[in-house]
Amino acid sequence: MRRALAEARLAGEAGDVPVGAVVLGPSGETVAAGHNDRERAADPTGHAEIVAIRAAAAARGAWRLAGCTLVVTLEPCTMCAGAAVQSRLDRVVYGAADLKAGAVGSLWDVVRDRRLNHRPEVIAGVMADECAALLTEFFTRRRVG
Ligand SMILES: [Zn+2]
Repeated sequence: MRRALAEARLAGEAGDVPVGAVVLGPSGETVAAGHNDRERAADPTGHAEIVAIRAAAAARGAWRLAGCTLVVTLEPCTMCAGAAVQSRLDRVVYGAADLKAGAVGSLWDVVRDRRLNHRPEVIAGVMADECAALLTEFFTRRRVG
């Protein structure tokens, strides 16, 4: 999660909402990392999770990320939760809950929907305070600035 937080800070510095993600391989090694890139890339799908999942699949040369874990500072939205299911990730670990748009337990629970045939394990609330603080700070500064 520390690596994901470092990624989140990079997004914040670039003027994007500070969300960072890392994909870990089966032995816990970092396969890829990414941060929210929506503003810079003018890409509505440029969420940290999508960036990291794409980079991880490219690094492994396979779209299936079985055995891998997605670590992200903010609870994934519907798009990213869907990407976690589509990429066959084993596990989703997130920091802060997103009560307004979260799709891994808050508003929806896309990754644990029993109607889907792939359901990643979920570990929520890892370093949640640090992850949330980064977002609060970013939005406070933006309102003031
Ligand atoms: Zn998302």
